[in-house]
Amino acid sequence: VVTRAAPKLRPQPIGTASSFGLGDRTGRATPGHIRALRASGTTLVPVLAQQSARELERTGRTFAEVLAAAAAGVEAEGWTGPWGADADHLRTVDEVAAALDAGFTMLTLDPSAHIDETGGDPAAVFGRALAHVAELARVADGADVDIEVSVDETAEPTTPDEHRFIAGELHRLGVPFTSIAPHFAGRWQKGVEVEGDLTEIRASLAAHARVAAESGGYKLSVHSGSDKFSVYPLLAQVAPRLHVKTSGTSYLEALRVVAAAEPELFRAIIDVARERFAADRATYALSESAGVPAEADLDDPGARQGLHVTFGAVLAHRELGPALLTALDRHAGAYADALERHLCRHLEALR
Ligand SMILES: [Zn+2]
Repeated sequence: VVTRAAPKLRPQPIGTASSFGLGDRTGRATPGHIRALRASGTTLVPVLAQQSARELERTGRTFAEVLAAAAAGVEAEGWTGPWGADADHLRTVDEVAAALDAGFTMLTLDPSAHIDETGGDPAAVFGRALAHVAELARVADGADVDIEVSVDETAEPTTPDEHRFIAGELHRLGVPFTSIAPHFAGRWQKGVEVEGDLTEIRASLAAHARVAAESGGYKLSVHSGSDKFSVYPLLAQVAPRLHVKTSGTSYLEALRVVAAAEPELFRAIIDVARERFAADRATYALSESAGVPAEADLDDPGARQGLHVTFGAVLAHRELGPALLTALDRHAGAYADALERHLCRHLEALR
């Protein structure tokens, strides 16, 4: 009797095994993500559902919908391996409770609002924030989940000493974390290459990886990992345990498919993105070149950032949102091909 493994329709905790986050804001990307995993032959454990509280606010989706979309993709593609579900950048007790309720198996706790960057020494800067993390983590007491602590959205890069302090305090407070996301040197904008001196960036990655190894052997987590092809080989060299998050790049690939197959719809998306860019850019760090030109080119770094930050305005738009999703359903094969190609490049660069 030959028994074949059945697809795992529920996510599971991953622990400190190296992993890769594949965010999907449209609920249509998981089949292409799975094809990329297979094509690359990667050993990284995928986090197929990954969405931040902020993304949910902007798209009008719920944690349960995000998880259901990933599970549907797992079933459709027959993925039998383990996979995780990351509720990203949770800021409040209510957000943590909602993510747990929906069945998410990784909680990324973000205490940014409680970090005092005018503080001085690490205790003054991070003390209150880490107490907040402990409060958020208590909501998950007894649940079998991975906990990440993210401080990547501060104004200044995290120093190795600050990172060591954060890990030590989390241990002291009894927070059972499996990864920390520092703010690395360089500029890590969404959906484009990293900007800055690669030697300095490598030193920053290596220093933080060393702290993670010395402070318990947890994973170094890299946010805004989309399209950072120049740093992936460096990461693979310096960080034996890592987690990388991508998300925006899968939305941009969706736009690429629409631009080729339904140019009129793409034009309407550009119009909305142009209207909304000034307001939406406020909550993201962008380069000076970021914007949405009338003839937006999906290979131009400035346009990529402009189209990336306006995803919420497009997806929550009364006509355009549904039109974009319908177009992706109509061109599901092309979208899966585009994602397979693009994310496979990411996964291969991380070897
Ligand atoms: Zn982040």
